[in-house]
Amino acid sequence: MTQYVLVTGGAGYIGSHACKALARAGYVPVTFDNLSTGWEDAVQFGPFELGDLMDPARISEVFAKYAPVAVLHFAALSQVGESMKLPGKYWRENVTGALNLIEAAIESECLNFVFSSTCATYGDQDNVVLNENSQQHPINAYGASKRAIEDMLFDFEKSHGLRHVIFRYFNVAGADPEAEIGEFHKPETHLVPLMLDAIEGRRPALTVFGTDYDTPDGTCIRDYVHVCDLVDAHLLGLTWLLENKPNRVFNLGSGTGFSVREVISHANGVTNREVPIIEGERRPGDCARLVSGSSRAEEELGWQPTRSDLGTMISDAWRWHQTGHYDK
Ligand code: UDP
Repeated sequence: MTQYVLVTGGAGYIGSHACKALARAGYVPVTFDNLSTGWEDAVQFGPFELGDLMDPARISEVFAKYAPVAVLHFAALSQVGESMKLPGKYWRENVTGALNLIEAAIESECLNFVFSSTCATYGDQDNVVLNENSQQHPINAYGASKRAIEDMLFDFEKSHGLRHVIFRYFNVAGADPEAEIGEFHKPETHLVPLMLDAIEGRRPALTVFGTDYDTPDGTCIRDYVHVCDLVDAHLLGLTWLLENKPNRVFNLGSGTGFSVREVISHANGVTNREVPIIEGERRPGDCARLVSGSSRAEEELGWQPTRSDLGTMISDAWRWHQTGHYDK
């Protein structure tokens, strides 16, 4: 029997990798995306339904058409910097969009919900190991909007039995090793693709946002996880729900932090070229250090990341960068 899975944001970076993994595992991923930041040519692994999460009737129509067994909810605005300038946009689109989706799922009796949350919900807690029980004090509107959706999921579980797995992502990087899909945002704001752009001369230089943080080399420390490892965890999360296991929150990170300067130095090594850099001001909303201190996903889900070392992530991203997708 065909098992459809509704993938919001399936035309985006992480969503499209999830669709590929779902299709490989025998599910049919149905992409629901408004193409505001995604790409129709990334929808290669199942049907595409153009639609907006601000349009509840359209969401219900898609639930009725496919009767999915679960929802993987990736669609969201996700730029920390933008969220500091336009918090209203983040609260409106992320929170209302999720609410519309949750209500349509419940109305259609689709009660398995996998949610993309973020380490930005923890906020600035320097030198503290971040595990799933760490306090959440987001310092930017992006993290605050995701935190609100987590709360919403707990409420709808109590009232309507909507079951959930929440994944709090650390920094996602890399690309499909077969280079069919990869990371491509317009405008681009993320470190790894910006670095590779600068190496290729598509932009003059990478600006390092802040060199005076209280970290060993003064730049921000993040925990990078490969997009393919990340979506593998989603498949395990989906199975977890389909096996009626309890609601659960999981951090998804490698457990190792790298500074911006360390990431740049790995990129220089992988590409055998040099990232041109400019040292700039701090970006509002950035925490000094975000590193996962949890292995709950490995212990409970049986998650085994295999590509989340910096060298593999950057070389997969570099291979994708060189496929010429920019020139389409
Ligand atoms: N960063 C940077 N220059 C850029 C983009 C990002 O120095 O042009 C830094 C940013 O301050 C953060 C890290 O790279 O410390 C990762 O940022 P990104 O935007 O990729 O992900 P985020 O941490 O915001 O989710």
